Amino acid sequence: MRSCKMPSGNEMPVFGIGTWRMGESSQRRAQELDAVKYAIELDYPMIDTAEMYGDGGAEEIVGEALAGRRKRPFIVSKVYPHNATRSGTVAACERSLKRMRLERIDLYLLHWRGGVRLAETFEAFHRLREAGKIADFGVSNFDTGDMEEAAGLDKGLTASNQVLYCLSQRGPEYDLLPWMRQRSIPLMAYSPLDQGRLLGNATLKKLAGSVGCTPAQLALAWVLAQPGVVTIPKSMTRERVKENLGAVEIKLSAEVLAELDRAFPPPKRKQPLGML
Ligand code: NAP
Repeated sequence: MRSCKMPSGNEMPVFGIGTWRMGESSQRRAQELDAVKYAIELDYPMIDTAEMYGDGGAEEIVGEALAGRRKRPFIVSKVYPHNATRSGTVAACERSLKRMRLERIDLYLLHWRGGVRLAETFEAFHRLREAGKIADFGVSNFDTGDMEEAAGLDKGLTASNQVLYCLSQRGPEYDLLPWMRQRSIPLMAYSPLDQGRLLGNATLKKLAGSVGCTPAQLALAWVLAQPGVVTIPKSMTRERVKENLGAVEIKLSAEVLAELDRAFPPPKRKQPLGML
């Protein structure tokens, strides 16, 4: 599978499974664990989680799914903004490592910008990296201005920015994505299916039929066709976990890409970054 080089020189896979809403309900837990285990069996190269998801419950599912495996996917997790102080970030990271039974997180993100000074969070990120507890760090829900501020604190090491980006939410293409591309910082597209809302779109359905794939696969293949973009669709059902991975193999023609541009036009002016 393709990967993107981060500014540190480490590689990040272009595809993974998301885990938002996992670990919240005891009734769904077995199914969610099964979905994450199945993704690992299918060789999903990346898992995205956060201390926020299920209040640590999603990280525990990830830990259980990884237990006893020799080879593990690239792991992304996130610190809550209210924990992102100098000492709070380190403590939160250690709790996440414990829940996932890991020695190191591959990419650790500030989940969104909160009240804590960014300088403090980055100081903690540098410290965690030097201690080997994280391999890379980055941010999430940062618009271009925030990225510029981060660039003054990150010693050139911000590895990614995870933002809302999909066919129906193309705002980042106006200035954020070009800004990130210029610096070779991969953009992680979250909610690539717009949480399922995209899938009823008539054009997407028709085009998927012509390509010979499902609407979800077409929406994901479009995200993956954008240079410097990686994505992390979430599903808790085996069939969809497998279906979504199939998107990685789909190459879209210029005609299909042009039809998608007509149905979901790129932004003509700056749009504030969307957030879910
Ligand atoms: P998403 O991946 O766009 O969509 C997930 C929804 O679509 C679920 O309801 C899922 O249902 C359904 N679905 C998945 N595959 C499908 C398929 N092939 N056919 C039909 N329906 C399908 O939305 P998301 O979970 O919000 O985003 C993905 C991940 O990004 C999250 O899980 C999380 O890891 C991350 N994220 C990060 C932030 C942030 O602030 N950094 C915000 C949002 C999300 P089932 O589970 O029932 O299959």
